[in-house]
Amino acid sequence: MEETAIAMVFEKEASPFVVQKFNFPELNEGEVLVKTEFATICTSDLHTYYGRRTSPCHSILGHEIIGHVDKIAANGVKDFAGNLLKEGDRVTWAVYAHDAESEMSKKGFPQKSESLYKYGHQKIDGNCQLNGGFASHCHLLKGSSIFKIPANLSAEEAAPLNCTHATIAGAIRIAGNLKGKTVLVSGAGMLGLSACTMAKECGANTVLVADIQQARMEMALSFGAEYFLNENEFITTKSKEFKGEIDVIIETSGQPKAIENTLEKLTTGGIIILVGAVFPQRNISINAEQIVRKLLTIKGLHNYIPEDLKNAIQFLSKSKDKYPFKNLVGKTFPLNQLDAAFAEGNIGKHYRIGIETKSLITNKSKTNGIERD
Ligand SMILES: [Zn+2]
Repeated sequence: MEETAIAMVFEKEASPFVVQKFNFPELNEGEVLVKTEFATICTSDLHTYYGRRTSPCHSILGHEIIGHVDKIAANGVKDFAGNLLKEGDRVTWAVYAHDAESEMSKKGFPQKSESLYKYGHQKIDGNCQLNGGFASHCHLLKGSSIFKIPANLSAEEAAPLNCTHATIAGAIRIAGNLKGKTVLVSGAGMLGLSACTMAKECGANTVLVADIQQARMEMALSFGAEYFLNENEFITTKSKEFKGEIDVIIETSGQPKAIENTLEKLTTGGIIILVGAVFPQRNISINAEQIVRKLLTIKGLHNYIPEDLKNAIQFLSKSKDKYPFKNLVGKTFPLNQLDAAFAEGNIGKHYRIGIETKSLITNKSKTNGIERD
């Protein structure tokens, strides 16, 4: 075992990450130390790093993480299925640690639990230092929902599970029974692609996709979408026009204009689930009379509940060969090239950039950044 853990610390917007060594934590009851295997740069990491939203620093970014159990607290720790974790288990975990006894958890919103602890979003502090994905290790606190990763999933497929796919599993849960329904996925980024496949696999009759980028909509056609938006009409690749009605919208773009435009397309009794609007933006304009007369439902989802991650893992393990999930990590960088990885990610060419943590920084000559003990 290494003498210290190493992390790429986020100190300031758009500034080089700083290499920092950390002592391994003493594990308290319910805690686990994971040796990170792979992480992906989520769009929200890019928003944080480039100052498009505020986040505490100094911190360790990265929350789409997988790894192997390295150390377990003395009395053992169980995974979400209730089985004791063992050293070496390959795991993912919910993006937050929560208190199941808190008021919000009891109301069914563990992701809004008082004293919530969010991986990849937390200030480096006291005993809780290794709390993000861009590091050699991650310290999981009591109240983390931990899941073993099915053996058939590659690192590239598994890393986005605990953000992208779990969030979409939550959106699908809220949308209700999709059997025979028409689902419009607004925004064809990583969340959107996940929504297309999950809607299709949950029995949606037809999946439509809308995005401002043609290439992204074409990609969605490989992920379960049948029609894409062409000017104002939804058409197939054979230019066949969509004639039906839209029952469900999963809105992943977060763009006010897109939300307003899609909302108008909902049929009577329809529901829109908003998941993409997680950055500051203008208010949206909605017509209340339309909502009343058409019996519409508008719901928001931020993060997810642990069961959603469980469902996402099962979904991905079952359907991974039907859809090209493995191609979504466009490029992989070693941990010590995190600056270059973020620059590449910010271009927006790839759905995800992978960060491999096996090749760790062992001496100054290998680092791009500034080293600090
Ligand atoms: Zn994320």
